[in-house]
Amino acid sequence: MRLDKLLANMGIGSRKEVKELIKKKSVSVNGKIIKSNLSIDPEFDRIECNGQVVEYQKYVYFMLHKPSGYLSATRDQEQKTVLDLLKTEDQARSPFPVGRLDKNTEGLLLLTNDGQLAHELLSPKKHVDKTYFAKISGFVTENDVAEFLQGVDIGDYITKPAKLKILKAKEVSEIEVTITEGKFHQVKRMFEAVGKEVLYLKRLTMGSLELDSTLKLGQYRALTDQEIQNIL
Ligand code: URA
Repeated sequence: MRLDKLLANMGIGSRKEVKELIKKKSVSVNGKIIKSNLSIDPEFDRIECNGQVVEYQKYVYFMLHKPSGYLSATRDQEQKTVLDLLKTEDQARSPFPVGRLDKNTEGLLLLTNDGQLAHELLSPKKHVDKTYFAKISGFVTENDVAEFLQGVDIGDYITKPAKLKILKAKEVSEIEVTITEGKFHQVKRMFEAVGKEVLYLKRLTMGSLELDSTLKLGQYRALTDQEIQNIL
């Protein structure tokens, strides 16, 4: 990897800024000050910038509180994507969303450039639990709870059992639902199948990962080492 790319990726500065740092002899590789950009092995070479060791992190893991109005994609010709919510230096690590939330769904979205982890979390064999909070038009009943527990016919597919918890049964009900799959519009289609409409949807958890309640809509943070260990 080129040294300027590594330094930029590790958040030292823009590509232009780190090139300046190299020119100013602020960067050393394996104890030797270098004067121009060069290829390095990020796993083995010891890089220092202004005397500080630059730790190489191969992967990034971000927890985003996704707001409504953003596509769960890396780029789109016309619409805003969740990548637009990241700082430039974080975008430079090429993270992508692990799975999709609908454009109007809010809540927990994991972004990473760790393809293996994403693959495992999304694998249907792994049955990773996902819990959502939702507002539903109409009274959600114990009958719905029983139907969800049996699996719901959403047209082209019968879902695996889902746990439905009624928080408020009213004209607009509030519920939590836990599903183990990630079919297209799954929660909305499950409620449609029992004659109800999802008015608001927010993902709270994915596997062991819980949405950090201090993150405001549109904010994100890196996962802690503990969170990374727990999801792997
Ligand atoms: N189910 C849905 O219907 N939409 C989402 O965004 C996530 C799950």
